[in-house]
Amino acid sequence: MARKRSGALGKYWGYLLFVIVITAWLTQALGPVGLIALSALTALFFLFRAPVWCGAVTREGDFCRKNARGLLMGCSYQQHKWQKLKLAVVPPKWRQLNKGLWVGPEKSVATIAALGSGLSAVAAVITLIFKLD
Ligand SMILES: [Zn+2]
Repeated sequence: MARKRSGALGKYWGYLLFVIVITAWLTQALGPVGLIALSALTALFFLFRAPVWCGAVTREGDFCRKNARGLLMGCSYQQHKWQKLKLAVVPPKWRQLNKGLWVGPEKSVATIAALGSGLSAVAAVITLIFKLD
């Protein structure tokens, strides 16, 4: 049981971190520097580590349902990795990338958390700038 719990924690620690980021905002327990660090780490987790579906578009026009690590990483197919990287760096393709971000409930949660922690990092930077005045 204990081993199972630590395995889940190894996979899902970013979700825990996201909760901590929200709590830190609500309680103002952390300074802006701490918030920036935590938010950035959380965003990185969801972009590159979170266990989600691949979501690349297959030749059948469907979304790939294989497991992948992170919103910007594809599954074990090399083609899917390239496809997602290409979508991420070409602005006209962002709509297509966006579609793949909402495949399945787990991925939607991960996408929202990634956006939330990204916004949180930006907000913390703004707070820091105003505090320096
Ligand atoms: Zn795939």
